[in-house]
Amino acid sequence: MEKLTATNLAMMEQRKKKPRAPKPVLPSQEAERYYSGQLRGMVRLMAGELVKALEPELKRLKRDYIADAMLTMDGWTDEVLAAIRGVSRRFSSSLFESQIQRVAASTVSRADADNAEDFRKSVNQAVGVDFQLITRPRGMQDYLEASTAENVNLIKSIPDEYFKNVETIVLGGMKDGLAPTAIAKQIQEQTGVSARRAKLIARDQVSQLNSDLTRQRQAAAGIEFYKAVDAGDQRVSGAPGGKYPNAKISCWGIARQDIGYGVGIYKVADGATWKGVTNLHPGKHHILCRCVGLAQIPGVNYFPDKG
Ligand SMILES: [Zn+2]
Repeated sequence: MEKLTATNLAMMEQRKKKPRAPKPVLPSQEAERYYSGQLRGMVRLMAGELVKALEPELKRLKRDYIADAMLTMDGWTDEVLAAIRGVSRRFSSSLFESQIQRVAASTVSRADADNAEDFRKSVNQAVGVDFQLITRPRGMQDYLEASTAENVNLIKSIPDEYFKNVETIVLGGMKDGLAPTAIAKQIQEQTGVSARRAKLIARDQVSQLNSDLTRQRQAAAGIEFYKAVDAGDQRVSGAPGGKYPNAKISCWGIARQDIGYGVGIYKVADGATWKGVTNLHPGKHHILCRCVGLAQIPGVNYFPDKG
């Protein structure tokens, strides 16, 4: 394993190309596309199976439950719950579990492969020398496994939440004597909620993976400092005149404050601090943070002694 030590950096004297600032290592678009596609398919399947099982039941029971409204829920509740649970069981079976395990593991490994490749390119282009950076630093395997398990739990929470809310919608709707079409409309809205949540999970998880993996690779390469760079648009949290000027954690501010190492520069090991909140790492300042931590390489884009 090679580190970007002073000795190694002396090799840069022999480089042919002029050093340039490393490019930011961005979250893997391929991993996000794959993940959100898989989750979108799951939500579509959940909703499709539910409608198929529930619609005929609601139509069949309509006369009973409308006449029954406010009196008793006996009889039809059991039947309709059985229909919902018959579908929800398929989304908590061991077969389902092994499918989502595969989705989570593929997502994590795609995100990791892209991060490793982009990180290597970024550093090597910057220093102009082909460092054989270690692909899988110590401890990373454990991290990848933990992240896979976390994603399995997050995926599981989508059908869990969906079918729980559907039960509330259906039972409440039938109790109120709503027409099956009105209940179906509420279920459709719930499907939309799940679809949006699935998309958010995919984006946020791939972005968190990128942040954590970049940090681990920077540390393993001996890079001590990074520069926090925000996404530079209206949606950057805390940006004056932007969409969220009063955000609790200001990515705009983090990129511009100087805690003693230079403007927006922080230790890879510590991250930034904002208004008493510590350990804020780029890409994880808050949910859907789009900041990146640019590796600061002495003599390339980092000149601590020049004051
Ligand atoms: Zn940010």
